Amino acid sequence: MKEYDQLLKAARNIRTLKGIISLLHWDQETYMPSGSNGIRSEQIELLSGIMHREHTGKTFSNTLGKLVDLKSGKPLVKGLNKAELKEFYRDYKLATALPVSFVEEFARLTSESALAWQEARKKDDFQLFLPHLEKIIAMCKKKADLIGYKNHPYDALLDEYEPGMTTKEVANEFSSLKKSIVSLLKKIQGSKQVNDSFLKGNFSEKKQMEFAEILLKGIEFDKTKGRLDLSTHPFSSSTHPSDSRITSRIHKNEFMSHIRSVMHECGHSFYEMGLPEDKYGSPLGDAISLGIHESQSRFWETRIGLSKPFWKHFLPQLKEHFKLNNVTLDSFYKAINKVSPSFIRVEADEVTYPLHVILRFELETELINGKLKVKDIPEAWNGKMQELLGITPPNNTLGCLQDIHWSLGSFGYFPTYTLGNMYAAHLFTAFEKAFPKWEEKLAKGEIHFIHEWLTENIHRHGKAYTGKELLKNITGKPFSADAYNKYLSDKYKSIYGF
Ligand code: MG
Repeated sequence: MKEYDQLLKAARNIRTLKGIISLLHWDQETYMPSGSNGIRSEQIELLSGIMHREHTGKTFSNTLGKLVDLKSGKPLVKGLNKAELKEFYRDYKLATALPVSFVEEFARLTSESALAWQEARKKDDFQLFLPHLEKIIAMCKKKADLIGYKNHPYDALLDEYEPGMTTKEVANEFSSLKKSIVSLLKKIQGSKQVNDSFLKGNFSEKKQMEFAEILLKGIEFDKTKGRLDLSTHPFSSSTHPSDSRITSRIHKNEFMSHIRSVMHECGHSFYEMGLPEDKYGSPLGDAISLGIHESQSRFWETRIGLSKPFWKHFLPQLKEHFKLNNVTLDSFYKAINKVSPSFIRVEADEVTYPLHVILRFELETELINGKLKVKDIPEAWNGKMQELLGITPPNNTLGCLQDIHWSLGSFGYFPTYTLGNMYAAHLFTAFEKAFPKWEEKLAKGEIHFIHEWLTENIHRHGKAYTGKELLKNITGKPFSADAYNKYLSDKYKSIYGF
């Protein structure tokens, strides 16, 4: 059909522009000379503007308008993929919901705020960030109104990152998770503590990158379609299934943070590499949501990369590479899974990490519905840290000023981190059923069967299903926190022996 072909062509151009922008960002974070910042912002701004105009202009809306009713989203023609049209319409609605003047003001405000946040964090002075954050939250409320919502203004913000998920559903799952993790943490703290001192030492960047190469090969990362580099904060970005970039960072006094980052970002990359190439540009060639994306990264980072069979295979190579003597598989496995409450989210272990996210989710929803005033954030933050983790940050740099997200206006983003863990656990129940002997296979270094399962069940579908549909299709059960609760409690019971 002529209109459909036109729509696909336009969407492919938009996707390609998006890819070029992400490549510019990747370069900025990895190799770009520091003096080039000014022109790089100009380049990104120009391309973003072109992309936005392509997406919201008359040509695009006229073409889409021949296939779906632009008011209601109802398909106007038969024989086309309904999920694909629905997603085309959703993207279009989101892109056109906000007036250009709003988008520009938001961009200006957040770029200033990011600088103010950096300064505030450096000086441990929340007051420097306060007026900016007040404006950002006011604009986020306005954004929610412009996009529209049924129950909670936060629904509109969350939906941008996790389509179809509501504030109420997240609150329910998080409250069940919170209860079980807080009680699990108490049991862990009442048990004999794990020794992880042998993970610390002096491990050069070169040595750590060499080991990452061993890992990349071992987990079948296709280097003809992707590459690993270093940046301040680890991330992954992809322009096409044939071009994925991942980054990691290295602390010279330990190697696990680098290994975890590599496994994590590879998981994101595998998803992008597994998307159907023939659907590139269409929503059917795109990832479902941030939460489902994160489920793939957590699958590789935690379910595979922090498992005992994985290290049964890789520990001998690691010991030889870093000259670690007298480390047994059992003590290594316990050490890399050590639980200890700490102030910084990105450094948190698997058990306490969700508590950091739940804290942010609870504060965000209250900030957006006006129950919590911005000036009261530090007190509320510290109170919740004490309630959930039993520790109080000595200052705001180690507390409410630690994350960049709020300064960028990314309200609604945090929950996807923990949803990703929960989705991964939910999906894992089906994986275990498909491969009851997965641990034996993994311990022998077999990896390919994992890729096949993830690609077949998740990656190749793009956005043909919503997150909820996908989770139910694969496991036969609607999504809930149950699988994740069980996984955490079984695993840590055996590690801490209670
Ligand atoms: Mg991630």
